[in-house]
Amino acid sequence: MNQLAKSSRNLIFKGKTLEPVSLECNMVGFCSKCDLDLESLAYHSTESKWLVCAHCNNEHLILMCYDRQWNWQGDYDLEIYTEKVSVSSIAKEKLEAIFTQAEIRDMMACQQSLPYTRQNLYRARAKYEKFEKLFGIKIDV
Ligand SMILES: [Zn+2]
Repeated sequence: MNQLAKSSRNLIFKGKTLEPVSLECNMVGFCSKCDLDLESLAYHSTESKWLVCAHCNNEHLILMCYDRQWNWQGDYDLEIYTEKVSVSSIAKEKLEAIFTQAEIRDMMACQQSLPYTRQNLYRARAKYEKFEKLFGIKIDV
């Protein structure tokens, strides 16, 4: 399955990770499952292809493949995945919206293999889902 990363919009296509060349939102056709308009989420390119990730309002996802002259080559399945992000690379304001100072300190400590209070980390982990819902970021600790 080809996968599009939710926040970075990197595309994993046939096992290779491609960075987006454009995040333009264009009308790119009609959904084959429900006939609604398809809007582009990201454009990627390889040596021989253009790849267009698109979705409809019913959250059907599709990966459209074109050659370098924009001749349509075929459609592929696509799914969105949420990348896991290390806690130290997340903006402090975001962390502070959900976690206490002690929880943030101990999440950082755990990530750096320093001593930490287990209870704080347990409490923090219980809030990961809430954090992901709010910011679309999966924490990797
Ligand atoms: Zn659809």
